[in-house]
Amino acid sequence: MPKIALMGQIHEEGLKVLNDSNFNIIEIADYSDENLRKKLIDVDAISLRTAELHSEILQECKSLKIVSRHGVGYDNVDLNYLNKKKIALAITGSANAVTVAEHVMAMFLNLSKLSKTSDQYVRSGQFNLKDSMQNNMLELYKKNIFIIGFGRIGKTLAKRCIGFESNVFVYDPYIESDKIKAHNCIPISFDEGIKIADFISLHLPINEKTKYLITKKELSQMKNKCILVNTARGGLIKEADLAWALQNKVIHSAGLDVFEQEPPKDDNSLFTLDNLILSPHSAALTLECRKRMAVETCKNIVNYLNKSSDLILSNIVNKDILN
Ligand code: NAD
Repeated sequence: MPKIALMGQIHEEGLKVLNDSNFNIIEIADYSDENLRKKLIDVDAISLRTAELHSEILQECKSLKIVSRHGVGYDNVDLNYLNKKKIALAITGSANAVTVAEHVMAMFLNLSKLSKTSDQYVRSGQFNLKDSMQNNMLELYKKNIFIIGFGRIGKTLAKRCIGFESNVFVYDPYIESDKIKAHNCIPISFDEGIKIADFISLHLPINEKTKYLITKKELSQMKNKCILVNTARGGLIKEADLAWALQNKVIHSAGLDVFEQEPPKDDNSLFTLDNLILSPHSAALTLECRKRMAVETCKNIVNYLNKSSDLILSNIVNKDILN
């Protein structure tokens, strides 16, 4: 009977998929190297949330055939090692784009309608301060939305912005212009995009090329009414520079779901700023999405181990290496 390690809790509908297939499940809560070495030695698969799986641990997993990420990012797994050992890495490619795109819309709308300030004014008896907000409350209608990274989430967000009758501009050097146009979006260069945008949203991975994609230099080129949202990965925006830009009203406001360090330290300079909305890396954590991610994580494992034709091949990140 295949043995599956759950590293991080998942919705019970996912567990049902494993139970129905008679897999032996072990839950791991202690992520110390010592415990992982002991517990993972004979597992066939790992369902992984946000814990780190580095090569020193992976080399102890003598029976491992697949690591199945509950999500789409995989910067917490040593992919080079998995490739070397021909161990599959799966993601939940079809589960979370809608939820993350909705989170971006929520941030766009909350920031442009000054929802946080409005709420505070009413609660604190400052109803008449509404006039002080009038130059900073904005619409999405006919505004320029700039989406950086046009994969699953970028495309899903574009559709929602088009529903608001915004103009959607896209920068993604790995996607042909025609494909961007086919989604009723306008291809644009990165440098032009940040200048003309009223709203910017990041949807690309972090790597050596994309780290600190947005620093003081780029923030200085944005419109001073620009709203910037990052639900992709911390480190795409240099936080100290963003704090400077928000403090000095270089841009209108920002929304962050992801941070350079997670959780961020208590004295993070962003925390004192009002023109900023934060969420604790929770953009994909709606009930509906958690169910879909749990089911897809476990189906990836079951279908891969059973060599089933139901396996969604596009979910296997390193399928080319595995043949
Ligand atoms: P995806 O792989 O479908 O799309 C990423 C896109 O980024 C690709 O089209 C790629 O061509 C593009 N890209 C790569 N380098 C680029 C660059 N230098 N400039 C512009 N575009 C570039 O990924 P996705 O599912 O859309 O996820 C996007 C991001 O969101 C990832 O970083 C992922 O980790 C993150 N994410 C966060 C949460 C959350 O909870 N906050 C949830 C899901 C995904």
